[in-house]
Amino acid sequence: MQTEGIKALVLGAGRSGVASARFLADRGAIVALHDRKDVAEWTESARSLKDSHRVGLISGEIPSWLLDQIELVVISPGVPTATVPARYIDRKGGEVIGEVELASRFLSGRIVGITGSNGKTTTTTLVGEILKNAGIDTRVGGNIGTPLLDLVGTTDEGTWIVAELSSFQLETIRDFHPNVAICLNVTPNHLDRYDSFKDYAAAKHRLFMNQTASDAAILNADDEITSSWASGLNASVTLFSVRRELETGLFLRGRDLVSRAGSSEKVLMSRDEIFLKGLHNVENVLAALAAGLACGADPASMRETVRNFRGVEHRIEFVAEVDRVQFYNDSKATSVDATLKALEAMAENDGEVVLILGGRGKNAPYEPLRPLVEKIVRAIVVIGEDADNIESQLSGAAMIVHGSTMEDAVRQAHSIAEAGDVVLLAPACASFDMFGSYEERGHEFKRAVKEMAGGEAGLERSA
Ligand code: ADP
Repeated sequence: MQTEGIKALVLGAGRSGVASARFLADRGAIVALHDRKDVAEWTESARSLKDSHRVGLISGEIPSWLLDQIELVVISPGVPTATVPARYIDRKGGEVIGEVELASRFLSGRIVGITGSNGKTTTTTLVGEILKNAGIDTRVGGNIGTPLLDLVGTTDEGTWIVAELSSFQLETIRDFHPNVAICLNVTPNHLDRYDSFKDYAAAKHRLFMNQTASDAAILNADDEITSSWASGLNASVTLFSVRRELETGLFLRGRDLVSRAGSSEKVLMSRDEIFLKGLHNVENVLAALAAGLACGADPASMRETVRNFRGVEHRIEFVAEVDRVQFYNDSKATSVDATLKALEAMAENDGEVVLILGGRGKNAPYEPLRPLVEKIVRAIVVIGEDADNIESQLSGAAMIVHGSTMEDAVRQAHSIAEAGDVVLLAPACASFDMFGSYEERGHEFKRAVKEMAGGEAGLERSA
């Protein structure tokens, strides 16, 4: 791809946009970076591109004289593809792509692409570990951590790049071609941005569109949407299931994780060796093992890696045990669906759950939580803007108390919990009413738990 002298417009001045603008400017392009926010509100790394890379910084409306000259638009995942400048350039015959597409044109090595509504980060992290520990030269990036563009120049033909990909990123690929592609599940999500569930599923399906017969596609057999794709793909398909035995594929049979191809089968490991809680994490592990096999990782080494994998921060993360009560941080559970998964995972325990719920609501009903709340939840501590709404929707399902701060919520939860119980932060809400991000919320929860445990010494005693 030629970049020297081309006139490029990068839409969105976040992490991915900054990486794209810098990358193109470094390769001789004339670059303008746009965000609808005022330049004064941009990050320092975005603003500094003006002096360091002669990138033009634009906010608000983009003048038409500038749009008329643009040959390439690189669009950030946060910016809708139907945005006016992108449509304008597209009509003029200019190219409109995303950072993932741009990166893939310059990256050497092979790619494992991972998408899905839930479980992307967990599975991507695990696949990265599996490949690294199998002695394969591996990089991890995309929607998590390092933008793929920042990996350009650090890889060679033998490298495997493990990329987490959101549906937004997949909307703007063209020739991007993952050698191994996983779609974990497709459940209603982001329906604020897509006209219909069909459009959202179609964006995910793009992951497979450039694959050929020598590639591998890994699909969830238990998911209605992904399983329906199996017969229509060019790649060789591996299915995984936690619900039934497959003739060919990876599945859970009793406690065994089995890989089967026709008449030959192998038990890869036992579910009891997986530290992560919940059946959904068995799905993630099966998908990751399938990817490992497709990349040539040794089964014994994969098993060892899964045994040692402690998961990703803020996803049903074990924090500490205090007075025989275990504390789990699932601050990433920002939807009712994710909270439901966390509760299902806890239903495997003997004790009950004290659930910390609330924050900025997403207008989704909390009612779906009721059956499990009635069954396994001792009490709910509600926090944040949506506390009263949650209380009215779940009234009668369990005892409900109000927490004023995270620290207060943790203390109340601890005093209600009995030995053998779990205190679970799985808020089903966004964090922005009380915190800067779900990460900040999770850190505050962990800090409060640790403080209550009496600092490090107390934790060591109790954990
Ligand atoms: P993503 O990157 O797709 O958001 P994460 O791995 O960060 O996925 O997990 C996000 C939330 O979804 C967590 O609360 C987690 O417990 C839940 N989750 C993880 N894997 C799955 C899965 N396979 N199916 C459903 N929910 C999942």
